[in-house]
Amino acid sequence: MSIKRFDLIAFDVDGTLVDDTVFVWETLHDHHRTDRASRDMAFEKYMAGEWSYRQWFEHDIRLLTEAGANHSTIQEAISGMRLMEGALDTLAAIRNSGARLAIISGSLDIVVEKFGLADYFDDIYLNHIGFDSQGRLSEWEPTPYDVCDKATGLKDLARRYGIPMERTAFIGDNFNDVAVARVAGFSIAFNCKSDELAKTADVTVPGGDLRHVLPYLV
Ligand SMILES: [Mg+2]
Repeated sequence: MSIKRFDLIAFDVDGTLVDDTVFVWETLHDHHRTDRASRDMAFEKYMAGEWSYRQWFEHDIRLLTEAGANHSTIQEAISGMRLMEGALDTLAAIRNSGARLAIISGSLDIVVEKFGLADYFDDIYLNHIGFDSQGRLSEWEPTPYDVCDKATGLKDLARRYGIPMERTAFIGDNFNDVAVARVAGFSIAFNCKSDELAKTADVTVPGGDLRHVLPYLV
């Protein structure tokens, strides 16, 4: 039994638990060849505070739907993604330590389902998409906790379980993890693609094998 250093440990998904994608959204848009200028416009409007996350999310869903995205093309798009080396060992070791495990991610639930990750986690916050019996994209719901709101997600979880923030840790890889890295008691930039995250996080761990974060967590 490993020793618990934190009571709540939260993970990002794309680029952290799952490899060969920076963001699943990029993977989907690239695969379906949606309009780059329109994608960039939506991202910039969100980042400038002109659009809500939901507006950005629904804009991207519309672009994908118009490009013919359905269950089979989306599964095809994510078929090249693989689990980060050492991910399951890492999650099992953390569970074994008795810490609560959470996902706070702007990825999609289909990615977590693809790899059977849900069983490892007590709480999962992700974007949702669903399909009808013909495989058409028929339902979607954005996560309340991406980018700056990832920090809100971690704070809400900690409050719910009565865990002080200094007993929380977060592991992520990119710019959308900066806000949550700031509020977590301890933060790890893993497989890091953002200078700002590298500067914000307590430690930086190179990508390749997620087990390398374990010495900091248990
Ligand atoms: Mg990520």
